[in-house]
Amino acid sequence: MEESTIRLAIFIGLIIMLGLGQWLFPRRKPNQSVAKRWITNFGLVILDSLIMRFIFALILPVTIANWSQEQGLGLFNNISLPSPLTIIFSVIILDCLIYWQHRIFHQIPILWRLHRIHHYDKDYDLSTALRFHPIEIFLSILVKNIAIILLGAPAMAVIIFEILLNGMALFNHANIALPKPLDRMLRILAVTPDMHRVHHSTKAKEMHSNFGFNLSIWDKVFSSYVAQPADGYQKMLIGQPKSDDLPTNNFIWLLGAALKQKIKS
Ligand SMILES: [Zn+2]
Ligand SMILES: [Zn+2]
Repeated sequence: MEESTIRLAIFIGLIIMLGLGQWLFPRRKPNQSVAKRWITNFGLVILDSLIMRFIFALILPVTIANWSQEQGLGLFNNISLPSPLTIIFSVIILDCLIYWQHRIFHQIPILWRLHRIHHYDKDYDLSTALRFHPIEIFLSILVKNIAIILLGAPAMAVIIFEILLNGMALFNHANIALPKPLDRMLRILAVTPDMHRVHHSTKAKEMHSNFGFNLSIWDKVFSSYVAQPADGYQKMLIGQPKSDDLPTNNFIWLLGAALKQKIKS
């Protein structure tokens, strides 16, 4: 089992055991509503974790970008280009990298096991955009930071890219019906909710297509573009094939046991 899974399991186990203990054998009678206090206290730990994630996801790459600039590391710190061009190129190259990273997570079985928990979601809305295994998040941060050093991407490019990636991931997973002409127009350049929804199909061909998150061009250039789901947007099945009996919304299962599931499709 993964170390993070064990730690989380121990933490949650202790909360349940001690919670039962203090409920069955209280030392003092509570003055306030337990439910209200727990919402606040647990809300804070969730917020703290989100802030920590934000720090790792944004402050760290920006620090690394500044550091590689000081050290004169990476492509763009060694060629002289006007700074707006460096920013635009860096954002585009980082986006291409994220496309390939996503594609490789589908191709290599051990990585697919991690990434599959994103695909186990049987519905599709903006919350699906947040559904990633912590190890996948860690690996993506690692890959991205190495890329920032090799590219010599300026801090401004990193900030723009992070905001774009997070914003577009939420947008792409949103359960919004966009007017067809708008979808068609946006798709020339950007990934739309309908385009990424195809990627969440239970059909293998559709699931292993449309890997892009920001620019739609990568799927077209690298021949992984599927324009529409074969069964249409209303009837298409979302999730993983043969997963009806699996507890795909069980948090603990997703972190550990889901990774052991045989690879189907
Ligand atoms: Zn995927
Ligand atoms: Zn997705």
